Amino acid sequence: MNSKIWLSTPHMGGNELKYIHEAFAENWVAPLGPNVNAFEADLESFLGNDCHVTALSSGTAALHLALISLGVKSDDEVFCQSMTFSASANPIAYVCARPVFIDSEPDTWNMCPEALREGLVASAAAGKLPKAVIVVHLYGMPAKMDEITALCNEFEVPLIEDAAEALGSNYKGRACGTFGEMSILSFNGNKIITTSGGGALVSKNKKYKEKALFLSTQARDEAPHYQHSEIGYNYRLSNICAGIGRGQMEVLKDRVAARRKNHDFYVDLFKDLDGVEVFTEPDGNYFSNHWLSAIMVDPGKAGFTREDLRMKLLGDNIESRPLWKPMHLQPVFKEAGYIGGSVSENLFENGLCLPSGSNLEPLHFDRIGSVVNQLMSIS
Ligand SMILES: *Cc1c(COP(=O)(O)O)cnc(C)c1O
Repeated sequence: MNSKIWLSTPHMGGNELKYIHEAFAENWVAPLGPNVNAFEADLESFLGNDCHVTALSSGTAALHLALISLGVKSDDEVFCQSMTFSASANPIAYVCARPVFIDSEPDTWNMCPEALREGLVASAAAGKLPKAVIVVHLYGMPAKMDEITALCNEFEVPLIEDAAEALGSNYKGRACGTFGEMSILSFNGNKIITTSGGGALVSKNKKYKEKALFLSTQARDEAPHYQHSEIGYNYRLSNICAGIGRGQMEVLKDRVAARRKNHDFYVDLFKDLDGVEVFTEPDGNYFSNHWLSAIMVDPGKAGFTREDLRMKLLGDNIESRPLWKPMHLQPVFKEAGYIGGSVSENLFENGLCLPSGSNLEPLHFDRIGSVVNQLMSIS
């Protein structure tokens, strides 16, 4: 059996262990310390736009704190992109609020501005606007941020940007993760850079950083003893994990370049085949880190289905995966509201994510290419 080719695996740069050794040498084996501060500073300088970054234990934790900081409470509504990973939506349930899912549009596969407008207009008419809108940059592709920020401004609803998959992407030259009232990043093991597990809350507003620091360290009031007036959380990033993050920040630009090259490989591989479309930026305003390369298969034109291709790849021990299953189709969210049509459903039916690691080697591309070419030649 050929060795396994994974969808996306961690890719160390080299200096991660150096920073971990420093932490051990100084006994900063704690959820605070010099690596945490330096990692936050690295992210702030990478993102620009005067952002304040709080390093946390996960992207999910960051979203949870974002919702709490915006005062989202039980029975409030939160609008959330349907086409996403469940971690975008679960924190809405953590605060006992009600998600309303919004369909995607076909250019960026992200939140459809028309569906968002429809939802906001209806909510305004009913006298109950959502407490927040959560937009996602799927697989690194920036959402239609001009339209979405304009709508959030018009209706005065705060925007939370889930940039978990989009570190290194930008829209009109501005980094993804800097558009929201608050934005979140993830450094889970499969993301473009990793701290093994981790995340961050980003905001231009310093008060949100102060709030996140307070909430993520058990909400201690200022007193010599332990005193609490609010419910707290244990959500701070460890100084060991932050050491990995510092090493990863040194190679982030290379990782973006490698993932974008993967995308180019797939564009070339499928270029002569009607019926397979590689997920690509709509125009020059969008710059995707191409965290995952993905395709849409039109079975009528291609002569094979998404599942045919996935199974053929699996036969050669190559991992690929259907796109995220939209949240409005998930059993756990069956009671939730939904606005839009069938764009996200169609993406789920016919889309496939292909191996996209920044550490793929020529031999891996040869194997992927030969499986695909074989399937195309018999179809
Ligand atoms: C990975 C991911 C998250 C959650 O991040 P964790 O660090 O794994 O908690 C949130 N949203 C999206 C879109 C993601 O891909």
